[in-house]
This record gives sequence, C-alpha cells and structure tokens, in this order.
Amino acid sequence: MSGKEQKYIQEAFDTNWVVPLGPNVNAFEEDLQGFMGGGSNVLALSAGTAALHLALVLLGIGKGDEVICQSFTFAASANPVVYQGATPVFVDSEDETWNMSPTLLRKAIEDRIAKTGRKPKAIVVVELYGMPCHMDEILAVAREYGIPVVEDAAEALGSVYKNRRCGTWGDLGALSFNGNKMITTSGGGALVCHTAEEKQRGMYFATQARQPAPYYQHTEIGFNYRMSNICAGIGRGQMTVLDEHIQHHQWVHDEYVKAFEGSDRITVHSLPATMAAEGTASNYWLSTVILADDIDPLALMKHLDAAGIESRPLWKPMHLQPVHAACPSYTDGTSERLFAHGLCLPSGPYVREAELKHIIDTINSFLS
Ligand SMILES: *Cc1c(COP(=O)(O)O)cnc(C)c1O
Repeated sequence: MSGKEQKYIQEAFDTNWVVPLGPNVNAFEEDLQGFMGGGSNVLALSAGTAALHLALVLLGIGKGDEVICQSFTFAASANPVVYQGATPVFVDSEDETWNMSPTLLRKAIEDRIAKTGRKPKAIVVVELYGMPCHMDEILAVAREYGIPVVEDAAEALGSVYKNRRCGTWGDLGALSFNGNKMITTSGGGALVCHTAEEKQRGMYFATQARQPAPYYQHTEIGFNYRMSNICAGIGRGQMTVLDEHIQHHQWVHDEYVKAFEGSDRITVHSLPATMAAEGTASNYWLSTVILADDIDPLALMKHLDAAGIESRPLWKPMHLQPVHAACPSYTDGTSERLFAHGLCLPSGPYVREAELKHIIDTINSFLS
C-alpha cells in the first residue's frame, strides 16, 4: 500500500459514494488511461475475469463458436470462453516468451477451418508472468484471417511491447487488480478499449444491459461487473506506487539473473535481447526459473518451504486440465516441458536484499 488508499476510501464514505460507480471509479479510470496511453479507453470492473468475459461478449462470442486460447496460462483466460457456451481451442507456447506460438496459431486456425468449415471467432493471447508475447507475429496471423484478438494482460500491467503498453495491442485488453497482481484494488480488473463507443458498450453490459427507458427495460442479458467506488479508491492510491512496484519486480528479476548467471542447473526466464532492443520490456510480475532435467521442481519447492520460503509451480497448461479434456488443442510439448521443469520464485514488494540473499542461498544449498 502507498498510504494514500484510505484517504480515497474515506472520501467515498464522507460523500456517501458507497456504490459501484462514483468519483473514485472515474478518477481511477483516468489514471489508468494516462498510464496505458495511446488514447486508450479504460472501463474499471469487478475482476480481470469479468474484463475477459465482457471482451468476448462485445465480440459476439456465443454458443457453438470456437475461441483460440493460449494453453499455458491461468484458468481465468479460458473460463469466460466456456461461460459464453463457446469451445476453447488451446494453442501451445513458444520457447522465447512462453506465450502463444504464432506458428501453432496459424496451424490451429487452418485446421479448425478444414475440420469445421468455420474460422475461430476470437484469439485470447496472454502475456504470462508479465512477459510480452511476439505480438506483431500474432496480430499478423489474426489480421490475415480477420479474427479479433483479446489481450489478457492481467499479469502484464507496466510491461511494454515495442514502446507501447501491453494491454493496448489487442482489439480489446484485460487487466487485473487482484490481490496478487502488480497493483491491487483488493479485487478488480479493467477492460482496455480503443474507442469511447466500445467502452460505452462495455459499460452497458457491465451494468445489466439496461435500455434507455424511464422504466427497467432489457433487450439483452447483462452482468453486474462494475467496480465499486471503494475498491477504486484503493486503486487510486495504488496508482501512485505502480512505477515503484514495476521497478521493484524488475530489480528482483535482475538480482536472480546475477545470482544464477552461468549456471547449467537453473535458468531465470528473461526477455530475449532481440526483443529488448526493440523497446520491449517485461514487468517481471513473477520471476520464474527452469531447472535442469534431473531436478524435481517440487523437491526444490519443499526445500524452500522448509526454510520459510514460498514458491509455486508454473501454471499447469489448460490442455492438461481435466475440465478441458474434450477441447481441441495444438501443442508441441513446450508448455508441458515448462510445467514439468519450472518454478515461480518470490518476487513481491516484501522481497528485499536480506530476503533475496536467504532465497538465493537456500536454492544454492539445494542445487549443491
Ligand atoms: C489473474 C489473472 C486473470 C484474472 O484476473 P482476476 O482479477 O483474478 O479475475 C486472468 N488471466 C490471467 C493470466 C491472470 O493471471
């Protein structure tokens, strides 16, 4: 916390704006628009999942449609596809960024067209752990087939691709302010739109799709997805420390890189130099590592836990999830290999120099 959050919450109580709209919501959206840049229109919502769901609603995804989704991600990227009665089609990642492979994306689209006679209706691409994807290549394939792109930037607030913020590259973008993300509103998210009209349409669906009539008139099904004015107050306070948070996460990553440089036992996942040279940067929301083939990441996790250090496995790919067993998938073993050999290390604001030393020493004691 920055210390300013409670001031905005107090303002909300003092003015009796204790509802899912109000001055904090508007001001938080303006702060986010300023941060995201590029004339973005940001709609503050109750969760990142709600933002992804609304994106699919705005794109007209419905029953019987297929939506391509990055397999290597958190469940929330794929769940909204199922909410809409559509079928997720999972596409594997490439080695460099761990995000959607443009090659497999093309293969998936062509095979779906060949098998079903229809092209997938949207593509959900993720910037996992804050790492930008090969967006130009993804967009080129998407444009070629005329398929809209939803950019799941829930983990990538503050990341940049070719000098423009992640979250602004897709036709629609989703941000998350869940407790574990780069900033938090205790729970919340946002839909990043390009036009005011898109934002307006998102607002309509986020507030129960009420028609402009003097009574309650509905011609479509809506949702209750708007952000609370209390949560937005927390968000306004958090915006004052966002840059600091990003720098901290990047510093933690750089320290891990220095500590394990040259090791053939542990490799810190880092932005390829070729991408960095093009004005691309990861926020390094989480620092992640890949271990040598003979090391069991769960054994390292246990070793760290015994020293009071929490670590986590990488996301388990969606195409391996029992709930999605019947969904088509286009994979080449990349995400399965990452899942089998990777680990997330502590990366948050509480990881300072002393904690880093303890974590690095504990990992080294395990590796030796
Ligand atoms: C956190 C997260 C979401 C969902 O955000 P919530 O605010 O928790 O609903 C979506 N996608 C990814 C990749 C995430 O990490």
